[in-house]
Amino acid sequence: MILGVECTAHTFGVSLCNKKKILSNIKDMYRPERGGIIPAESAKHHENISQSIFEQALDKACIREQKIDAIAISNAPGLAPCLLAGMRFAKQKALKLGKPIIPVNHCIAHLEIGQHEGAKDPVLLYTSGANTQIIAFSEGKYRIFGETLDIGIGNFLDKFARFTGIPFPGGPEIERLAKNGKYIELPYVIKGMDVSFSGLYTKLTQLYNNKVLIEDLCFSIQETAFAILVEAAERALAHTGKKELVLGGGVACNSRLQEMCRIMCQERGAHFFCPPKEFLVDNAGMIAYTGELMFNKGIKMDPSKIDISPRERTDEVVVTWR
Ligand code: AMP
Ligand code: MG
Repeated sequence: MILGVECTAHTFGVSLCNKKKILSNIKDMYRPERGGIIPAESAKHHENISQSIFEQALDKACIREQKIDAIAISNAPGLAPCLLAGMRFAKQKALKLGKPIIPVNHCIAHLEIGQHEGAKDPVLLYTSGANTQIIAFSEGKYRIFGETLDIGIGNFLDKFARFTGIPFPGGPEIERLAKNGKYIELPYVIKGMDVSFSGLYTKLTQLYNNKVLIEDLCFSIQETAFAILVEAAERALAHTGKKELVLGGGVACNSRLQEMCRIMCQERGAHFFCPPKEFLVDNAGMIAYTGELMFNKGIKMDPSKIDISPRERTDEVVVTWR
């Protein structure tokens, strides 16, 4: 029985996973009153909510805490104050129960949860607020085949939304407005498997100031930015010879992005896996699930020997559990 804890940014979550079954997946999200995340405030949120989320996760799974064999925690990458809050909580539980800790890389967990949907060796298109990466397993590690050269896709959407007066999170409202828009050509930047959104952002602000309809801008943002992402993912599929694509991250909730991925995969005879929303956004279920894969291969640490790793890169993790 693995207890998973997610704490890297705005979400604090706790999950229980046993034999690849996710028995509970409870979370609560810090919401800034305005603007972006303030790390210290988000950490405070995690501290205040952790015990109650823990109890809810145990109740939902009908499990007593004595049944827990190890605690998996997202110790990397993320906002240091948030990681520290989660780590303090995990250590306190681990010491109380006398159980080891399993350090889980958050980005890798987004990929591993694809197995829960049936993927075996996929390319992950990871599209969240801060992160935009294309990740796949190659020669002992999860390698980053492509990534954003400037801002993450979600931050880009939120930033443009904020510019036009749409509050955070901007992505869902852009999706809604896009339904009544038509296509305008926008800058399309892809370099190999790397992508870039800052030129697109500048162009959009100019068009908005020139009174171009917001619906048309939203429609065209989706068509352009998502086509860039899907093209990068397709290049990674072609390059690696892999036949599976998994989506992850909050922006993956967008139905147009999902549709584009599905079409691309159909056209090249690949399988497309889109986890349910609860596993697309930040969640502890994917941490517990990945933690169990690692634990079963003997990966566990003494609570006194583990630390956070705010800047750990996906390809720094030596993968011994595959
Ligand atoms: P994450 O960083 O993974 O928690 O994801 C948060 C990001 O997902 C924010 O930038 C949101 O604007 C974005 N997002 C959530 N739902 C949608 C959607 N339906 N379409 C586009 N972006 C979305
Ligand atoms: Mg994430």
